Amino acid sequence: TIGMIVVDEKGNFVAGTSTNGLTHKIPGRVGDSPIPGAGAYAENGVGAAVATGDGDVMMRFLPAYQIVELMHNGATPTEAASKALERILKFYPKFNGALVGVRNDGEIGAACVGFPKFEFCVKNETSADTIIHGVDCK
Ligand code: ASP
Repeated sequence: TIGMIVVDEKGNFVAGTSTNGLTHKIPGRVGDSPIPGAGAYAENGVGAAVATGDGDVMMRFLPAYQIVELMHNGATPTEAASKALERILKFYPKFNGALVGVRNDGEIGAACVGFPKFEFCVKNETSADTIIHGVDCK
């Protein structure tokens, strides 16, 4: 999955995901990517989130929506992503995936499980180039 969060100069958030659903490609499968709140979610004034991983699990938890809601209630993006991940792991301990959140003030965070490290790219007005960030997974 490619997940993307974009913020314009007025602070409008947009989030989207695109996936080939490679490991689960069966005819008629929808997956998490096109479902608002599962693959991606954005709310102006709060932030946005995107998700990658086992979409058949994620579409039951709406982790992107959870992250935005948790940030709305004061969590940092890292705290929000970790909490959303824990919620999934409570029911699916073998879940693999990564969640990324961006808050209205530009703070970015991520959480992941099932692989050693998750990397994502950030480009903003303070950096001339795209910067690769990495988080260690659970
Ligand atoms: N979330 C995607 C899916 O289940 C897969 C992925 O993130 O690689 O279709």
